Amino acid sequence: RQVVVRLDGVRKEFGDTTALDGVSLEIRAGEAVAVMGPSGCGKSTLLNMVAGLDRPTAGSVVVHGEDLGALRETGLALFRRHHIGMIFQFFNLLDDLPALDNVALAAQLTGTPARHARKRALELLDELGIADRRNTYPAALSGGERQRVAVARALMNRPALLLADEPTGALDSRSGEQVMDLLLDLNQIGQTLLMVTHDPRLATRCATRLVEVTDGRIARQSSLERTA
Ligand code: ADP
Ligand code: ADP
Repeated sequence: RQVVVRLDGVRKEFGDTTALDGVSLEIRAGEAVAVMGPSGCGKSTLLNMVAGLDRPTAGSVVVHGEDLGALRETGLALFRRHHIGMIFQFFNLLDDLPALDNVALAAQLTGTPARHARKRALELLDELGIADRRNTYPAALSGGERQRVAVARALMNRPALLLADEPTGALDSRSGEQVMDLLLDLNQIGQTLLMVTHDPRLATRCATRLVEVTDGRIARQSSLERTA
């Protein structure tokens, strides 16, 4: 199987703080990797490196065959738009756009004509069970609905990799479970996933591999038998 992510000796310093201290990690197509560890251990920094949102102090990051260290800012932005989908704890939807437009915009930013983008956005909302909410603004959606809109947006450009930063962290347990089921379904149809979470249920339900980080290093890795 194709390598989607390869981190090699990644180190990240913020002044005197070493956030990542030599992380090497390979993720292959179809895997669902959960990164866990105590607050401040470097999980978000790791995700930011893979997303090309920040650059390592040392080491290399290759995603979907692209050496991110060789790209300038505009190249990184293009790479993210085309190949990476991201979902966040607090959804990061645009408040002044209804659900459908939030989703469609992701494709319009890669040059897809509005009409096509809106058609695909509606299909995705429909697949995620929230087509009836297409004209609703984020403020009027429930947390679970907001996260499903965010997932639809992340999938618009058929990303090689879906990144999730605490995707259930702000949801009640029922909505959290719906989002977990959704991530599990996506992985089972082949979507490669990398998620950072404090929620052991998310890891055991959705992940095929657990990566435990302590003090900026990978302390342990294990394959998981999914119980879903
Ligand atoms: P986690 O996501 O596991 O909570 P982070 O990756 O956010 O951990 O942070 C790892 C360490 O790096 C922490 O000590 C944090 O304070 C520090 N850190 C993260 N981002 C920055 C930044 N932009 N500037 C300074 N320090 C940072
Ligand atoms: P989380 O762990 O939920 O992602 P954090 O509070 O660790 O939230 O980080 C939120 C943002 O703030 C991240 O972009 C991180 O890089 C940045 N950050 C974390 N710690 C620091 C810090 N000590 N100084 C500056 N920025 C930081």
